[in-house]
Amino acid sequence: MSNDQKVRVRFAPSPTGYLHVGGARTALYDYLFAKRHGGTFVLRVEDTDVERSTEEALKMQIQDLAWLGLEWDEGVDPVTLKDIGPHGPYRQSERKHIYDKYAQALLEKKNAYYCFLSDEEINTQREQAKKDGRPPQVNSPYKDWSLEKALEHKKTSDIKPVIRFKTPEVKKDYLLNDLVRGEVKFPSDMVGDFVMIRSNGMPVYNFCCAIDDALMKLTHVFRAEEHLSNTLRQMMIYEALGFDLPLFGHLSIILGEDRQKLSKRHGATSVNEYKERGFLPEAMNNFLALLGWSSPEAQEIMSMDEMTAQFSTDRLNSSSAVFDETKLKWVNATHLRALPHSKLWELLQPYFDKEGFDLPKDSDWQDNALSLMKTSMETLSDGVELFRPLSKGSFAVSEKAKDVLSWEPTKKVFEKWISLLNESDKITEEDFMNMQNTIKKECEVKGKNLFMPIRVAVIGQPHGAEVKLLVPLMEKSELIERAQAALNSCS
Ligand code: GLU
Repeated sequence: MSNDQKVRVRFAPSPTGYLHVGGARTALYDYLFAKRHGGTFVLRVEDTDVERSTEEALKMQIQDLAWLGLEWDEGVDPVTLKDIGPHGPYRQSERKHIYDKYAQALLEKKNAYYCFLSDEEINTQREQAKKDGRPPQVNSPYKDWSLEKALEHKKTSDIKPVIRFKTPEVKKDYLLNDLVRGEVKFPSDMVGDFVMIRSNGMPVYNFCCAIDDALMKLTHVFRAEEHLSNTLRQMMIYEALGFDLPLFGHLSIILGEDRQKLSKRHGATSVNEYKERGFLPEAMNNFLALLGWSSPEAQEIMSMDEMTAQFSTDRLNSSSAVFDETKLKWVNATHLRALPHSKLWELLQPYFDKEGFDLPKDSDWQDNALSLMKTSMETLSDGVELFRPLSKGSFAVSEKAKDVLSWEPTKKVFEKWISLLNESDKITEEDFMNMQNTIKKECEVKGKNLFMPIRVAVIGQPHGAEVKLLVPLMEKSELIERAQAALNSCS
């Protein structure tokens, strides 16, 4: 890449399922790198696997990328799914004519050939290679056929041919200066003549990817480490077509906490699941950025702007990263607690609505409630259980309170609590502590005989929420009503 060339990067998802957190990390690095250099971020859809690609999966992935705020400049429009930008079409399924043209060029240049080997013949070759201790590479008798002869044969052959790329006859090394892994040397005989176009006419990933990366004028390609072995094939295609190679960065592998490759077995791996569990996009981005990259200032909690300002490829780390959910929760809690309360309430509202909570609309009350509750929240969904006892109509004396209700002093505690409530006005946390002390002295109860009945009178059960935080957030009339219901439940 020359100095005056503008940075162009792409994220190239295959729409065969949800957006994996690993994919989101790649997209995030693309985004940060493009933003850092005033470059262009392209979203290209790799949907040549027609059986597994679906429009639904594409929409889902786009939605998740949009939720993360990783906006792209070119590619498919997030709303209309139509092409935006001058290098379209951006869906590989619509670029078949382009791949056909380059396949034709490679056939004519003798860098590729029609191969009529049957599956059976290929298997026999592979088995023999295995027996001889050689790599299972195909040795096609058709590689030196002239194009004319192959086209003639194609007319009458029962076998629908594939088009194979002809790898160099004389062994040589391909050198890749990877932005993450440094110099990687690939001997050309690591791969045999590989399929470019399948017998059904569909091009394969390596072929489409190399052509698109070149035609879309991408300067940098970031992708998962598992694609490193594909890069040799792509480099051969670049060479044969005379395209300039972009710079590659193969990102470190993401492991689960047991140090095995992150998979469903480890729990949530899709961005959408984290979204639904109440993680914030800014926290996801922050956490994902640190899986394979570190800030020069060793900063852990960062906004998108801070990450953009600091992002550089020389701090990409080649060693594998562990997806540590405890850390993700900490990052999330830190971002969540720093939000303005009005914003935090707005984000919690859908969770409350889903539960049908009836909570005060007063913004001072909400502000106050969040000041008290947010330190107990790691995710938005944690808000549900914290706020449940504050919802009007949520109170019921639970079965779990049965034991407490049968204790001898419980009734006395309820009665005293009700009379103290009647005498009080606005109850602060301090008032509540004083009221509790008064009950302790006057009813001569302590420990669980004191705390559990009070909790039952406030939330209907002997365990759970911190009553001293809840009481100051509740109306006196509501508290009395609840305590009365608890008292009525005593036999
Ligand atoms: N479609 C490929 C994938 O989802 C992208 C590979 C690449 O970035 O080159 O893994």
